[in-house]
Amino acid sequence: MDKDIATPVRTRAILEKYGFSFKKSLGQNFLIDTNILKKIVSFAELTDRSGAIEIGPGIGALTEQLARSSKKVTAFEIDQRLLPILADTLAPYDNVKVIHNDVLKADVKRVIEEEFPDIEDIMVVANLPYYVTTPIIMKLLEDHLPIRGIVCMLQKEVADRISAKPGTKDYGSLSIAIQYYTEAETVMIVPKTVFVPQPNVDSAVIRLTKREKPAVNVKDEHFFFQVTKASFAQRRKTLLNNLTSQLPDGKQKKEEIIKALQESEIEPSRRGETLSLAEFALLSDKLYPYFH
Ligand code: SAM
Repeated sequence: MDKDIATPVRTRAILEKYGFSFKKSLGQNFLIDTNILKKIVSFAELTDRSGAIEIGPGIGALTEQLARSSKKVTAFEIDQRLLPILADTLAPYDNVKVIHNDVLKADVKRVIEEEFPDIEDIMVVANLPYYVTTPIIMKLLEDHLPIRGIVCMLQKEVADRISAKPGTKDYGSLSIAIQYYTEAETVMIVPKTVFVPQPNVDSAVIRLTKREKPAVNVKDEHFFFQVTKASFAQRRKTLLNNLTSQLPDGKQKKEEIIKALQESEIEPSRRGETLSLAEFALLSDKLYPYFH
């Protein structure tokens, strides 16, 4: 078996060979610990029939582990300078394809159709660039891709918000948006010392397992998310205050908002952070006719 890319010595040698300098603006913190990488891959539960999509392969540290554990890997990398490096480090693997693109601009659904035509089990596995963690995860979920789930490294603080339960300080519209589509769990806390350069924040790995259908049934998804965002606009304000100040024409529709809250049996003085997904679903369905 080839020497792992993700050791401090090999990583340094690769970076030196190519005179590579990290771009902070692209969230470049590379993993240099093979054990952590193997653990991340194990959380994805891949088999030799699985496809893996990676976002930001860097110099290929995680890509290599994915190539060894799956049928095929397709990776999106934004930084052109990494392409010749990846061609070199991943040369021993004939089941890897690197696409030079910003994943936020890519048509991931089409790429899946083209790259994984005969693969049913597809997972996204990534050590995400921290400056765009949330937009990337939301895009992957909102695009309704045919994937089993996502295992990714991200800031611990964001992981806490994603997997937070109602009534906790971390629970908010991000928890709801992600738990609507997936079952979310934090599976590992990761120390700063396993990266070069070391990030300023603590990291964690989360596993998002896509639900067969969304966690709750709503009349209109877009409006449901609008209501949840509005409800958390100012955390210390009551639900009624946030909804009247944030929903379109909310101030003029205060009476209707009170009615919808009564119809949902939710006290107007409660705060957004106390509502479950089911309560938000009910409330947004009751508000819907007053706003459409
Ligand atoms: N996977 C490597 C590892 O674990 O060592 C590198 C991870 S590093 C945290 C993030 C990677 O994402 C970098 O290679 C960076 O260039 C790339 N990247 C940043 N923004 C991106 C985007 N919008 N689309 C695709 N790749 C991106």
